[in-house]
Amino acid sequence: MFRRRLATLAAALAVAGPLPALAQAQYPSRPISMIVPFAAGGPTDTVARLTAEVMGRDLGQTIVIENVGGAGGTLGAARVALARPDGYTILMHHIGMGTTPALYRRLSYDAVNGFETVGLVTEVPMTITVKNGLAARNLSELVALMRSQKEGLNLANAGIGAASHLCGLLLQTAVQQQVTTVPYRGTGPAMTDLIGGTVDIMCDQTTNTTEQIRAGSIRALAVTTPTRLAALPDLPTAAEAGLPGFEVSVWHGIYTPRGTPAAINDRLSRALQVALRDERLVARFAELGTAPVSQDRATPAAHREFWQADITKWRPIIQAAGQYAD
Ligand code: ASP
Repeated sequence: MFRRRLATLAAALAVAGPLPALAQAQYPSRPISMIVPFAAGGPTDTVARLTAEVMGRDLGQTIVIENVGGAGGTLGAARVALARPDGYTILMHHIGMGTTPALYRRLSYDAVNGFETVGLVTEVPMTITVKNGLAARNLSELVALMRSQKEGLNLANAGIGAASHLCGLLLQTAVQQQVTTVPYRGTGPAMTDLIGGTVDIMCDQTTNTTEQIRAGSIRALAVTTPTRLAALPDLPTAAEAGLPGFEVSVWHGIYTPRGTPAAINDRLSRALQVALRDERLVARFAELGTAPVSQDRATPAAHREFWQADITKWRPIIQAAGQYAD
């Protein structure tokens, strides 16, 4: 009886064992879907498309970008967390992966343990921008305007969990004044409204704002990094402009669903490293005010460690700001 069971087990292993290994060896054998949890045309979309194109070349398969915007990135993240862990559904997400666990009390997926990590991609500075014509030509004037107009001013963001939400939250906390927030599926569409003058303020990544600032379509008041940017050398830091300690940059990383075999995550990580060395990608990132992370950070282990530390970092800050979503 016992021996028969052993034989059955061995037979089962023989069937179960080699198949996934074979499938992994051939990975990827068809196009991969990369979920961007924000609208097309926004900053995450831009980073994803530039990176995915080169990764796909290295992998010998197309990476198709799918924009699943809404609810501050949680709809797209849920899509990946709940997908088959076979390497064909992957996620490009940002700092929202660090803030969401503290911002949301209820989610349809596990925001801390529901993913495997592939590697970090880039850290993007943010800019505090306003519509042309707003009576704020510098950050001090914006602070004064926020305090006098209060809810009469509106601030665009990409929903609770978005980087623009986090930056707006930090701004309102620093100024100690709430304004009206207007959520979009991504800051791509929000930018259209900032240019059109429908919304007043937006704090967004340089990958979405640099070209609009240079074109004069919107007005930039400060950058959120400790030093000025080569891409926008005239723009003061928030500290220089009157808000010392106001610093945030938006790290991005690639994820797969929990349970995706390590061999697949490693293969994706190698492709990511190739992409981050690509001259055209590096040049385009620079034009947009950012740069790839160093190669040793584009690994599953470095990414996981950084992500988990970020969750720990943001929890008390978000709790102190007292903003949650259900
Ligand atoms: N990254 C978002 C987007 O691509 C915006 C955000 O997080 O604020 O639209």
